[in-house]
Amino acid sequence: MITVTTITELRSLVIEERINRRTVGLVPTMGAFHEGHLSLMRQAREQTDFVIVSLFVNPTQFGEGEDFEAYPRDEERDQALAEETGVNVVFAPAVEEIYPPEFSTYVEVEGSITSRLEGALRPNHFKGVTTVVAKLFDIVGPDMAYFGQKDLQQAYIVKRMAGDLNMPVEVILCPTAREADGLAMSSRNVYLSPEERKAATVLFRSLSNAEHLVQEGERHAHVIKEAVREVVAAEPLADLQYAEVCDTINLDNLDEIETEAAVLLAVKIGKTRLIDNMIVRRP
Ligand code: AMP
Repeated sequence: MITVTTITELRSLVIEERINRRTVGLVPTMGAFHEGHLSLMRQAREQTDFVIVSLFVNPTQFGEGEDFEAYPRDEERDQALAEETGVNVVFAPAVEEIYPPEFSTYVEVEGSITSRLEGALRPNHFKGVTTVVAKLFDIVGPDMAYFGQKDLQQAYIVKRMAGDLNMPVEVILCPTAREADGLAMSSRNVYLSPEERKAATVLFRSLSNAEHLVQEGERHAHVIKEAVREVVAAEPLADLQYAEVCDTINLDNLDEIETEAAVLLAVKIGKTRLIDNMIVRRP
């Protein structure tokens, strides 16, 4: 496995693979790898010949007062894990490589898909995500790009961007990797104190309860939302930011579930903001 830091180096490596007619898979990440990241890399390894993992803490997707400076970074450990997982190249550019001083072009997906949920609480977050992902798609030209269901709204937005802009890449949604007690793996889980870590299971518990209700025949979104709110409210360390039942295309609110829905929530546990979601299907 090699690590490159410049766009020029990365492009010349990809050109060589293309000449040999090898398919290229891209896994965009911000590092601090956990099993969630590794599962994306494994899927890329299985489905493509040449796997590139980008490791870049993208400043444009962090808002003011968010944790850009404090975001966990451990490049050496990440490189070792990527190598063990069979990754071919880690692309770890400096901020100036991606955003030179005169940078002024952004890619933005419009509409409720970006303005609701995370978009409502983190203005400009998705504009930063789509800009950096568009740049990565352009730099690498991958056949397939892998995103986690953990960040469902992000994955849907990236898919929309790629479709709208005719980007020749298949955006693949990979399942959420969870701890044994259900907590979705996240680089931000390291911020949790032992007590908060226990409380953090409330996200998965509330989603599992929602799934159970749907499987028992409940189809009214307001009943499901209320049930999620009740489970979260019973956890003293948890502060619910939103809980919504949405369609699985635009993430617009649903009144009734016909076939399937995405249940999404954001919860603050102490100072740490966690998100999770589940796709629920009617029996
Ligand atoms: P991040 O480094 O947090 O930007 O995440 C990089 C990619 O890994 C994104 O596509 C995330 O959705 C995905 N990811 C993060 N956590 C998980 C998880 N627990 N399971 C599956 N994918 C994940």
